[in-house]
Amino acid sequence: MALETYRADAMRCSRCAYCKWVPLDLMKSWRFSKGCPSIEFGHFHSYSAGGRLVTALSLMDGRSEVTEKVKDSVFKCNLCGSCDVTCKMCRYDMEPLEAMKELRFHLVEQGHTLPQVEPVIDGLRRELNMLGKPRAERGDWAAKLNVKNLVKEQAEFVFHAGCRYSFDGDLGDAARTSVRILQQAGVDFGIMGEAENCCGGRAYGMGYKAEFETRRDSTLIAWQRAGVKTVITPCSDCYHTFKRLYPPASGCDIKVVHMVEFLDQLLGEGKLKFTKPVPMTVTYHDPCHLGRQGEEYVAWNGKEKKIFGQAVCYDPPRPRYNGAFGIYDPPRRVLQAIPGLKLVEMERNREAAWCCGAGGGAREAYPEFSNWTASERIEEACSTGAEAIVSACPWCERNFLDATAGGKRKLAVYDVMQLVEKAL
Ligand code: SF4
Ligand code: SF4
Repeated sequence: MALETYRADAMRCSRCAYCKWVPLDLMKSWRFSKGCPSIEFGHFHSYSAGGRLVTALSLMDGRSEVTEKVKDSVFKCNLCGSCDVTCKMCRYDMEPLEAMKELRFHLVEQGHTLPQVEPVIDGLRRELNMLGKPRAERGDWAAKLNVKNLVKEQAEFVFHAGCRYSFDGDLGDAARTSVRILQQAGVDFGIMGEAENCCGGRAYGMGYKAEFETRRDSTLIAWQRAGVKTVITPCSDCYHTFKRLYPPASGCDIKVVHMVEFLDQLLGEGKLKFTKPVPMTVTYHDPCHLGRQGEEYVAWNGKEKKIFGQAVCYDPPRPRYNGAFGIYDPPRRVLQAIPGLKLVEMERNREAAWCCGAGGGAREAYPEFSNWTASERIEEACSTGAEAIVSACPWCERNFLDATAGGKRKLAVYDVMQLVEKAL
């Protein structure tokens, strides 16, 4: 793919600005009607999906150059996909999110990188993780769990913890609880331990496509050697990467299951039962990569065509990722099955959810923007009367923990697995 692939999208953008909002029929109040953190923070059209399509067209046609301001507008975006959902409600087959990702690849390939992100990518190249931690410590989180290491042993499933759960001491419990539940359920699984790789998804979002491909190939080879065909992960970022970004690679036939889907299945089969009440009112935050970006990859090898030399269409029609078939119900069913726990919804939920602020490299490159985005979500969570915000992604949870630390808002932050642990 090249930026030129999205020329038709850039041309067909009607500048309607719908991508700045949540879908009209899902709006419940003025306060929480905005969908795009970037435009809300940047206050200028270039900081929206429509604005970036204008930028892409201008760069393709050589009408503008990549200045620091252009870089700022391209990268100060969470790649959350809210714009993509609303755009597809009024413009059926445009792909603003994919075009924005391609715009980033274009800039990075030409050397227009962000100095804030370079050390993170260097850490990834050196230590194979997004936190720049020593790679030898990657499997330490599972030290006392008596779990198979698939470098030496065989199993049916591989459990992939991901960089954040592996190295973030505040969040590792969610991975450990996942492992204990899989053991109790008699699942034949193992971990890659020290040999687990970063999935590469966050590098992809930052515009470093080559780094992503290196991590992807190395992960697929390691899994092939271990003989596994299904990966279970508690991380929504990794889930999206394996489910949507890996399949175009030749020889990738891996099946991906998020831990909340697995729990939901165990509950449905009666293999998991909660015994202890957890008397709390909580609200669930849909991670972008599990929700609206958690849809299955569909291969497409069609062509762009013009009708009467003008209107662009695709033959056969392109797959339509509009967020409707993301993973929304399994985490909610798990939470609702916990005795004593009350689940209340935020105004913006499911495919209309407001982002946590950690995606698209924003956490690393623009901490102020990232923290503001998380604070907006915390405000929304507090407006429901919930005493905790719960999610199923360590990147969301880290951002919420940082946004609530020392702040005026008192709101607990949990992973679904932490509440499951309390109920067992
Ligand atoms: S909603 Fe779509 S068509 Fe409208 S301005 Fe945004 S990107 Fe362009
Ligand atoms: S991906 Fe999210 S932050 Fe970026 S333009 Fe779209 S809605 Fe705004």
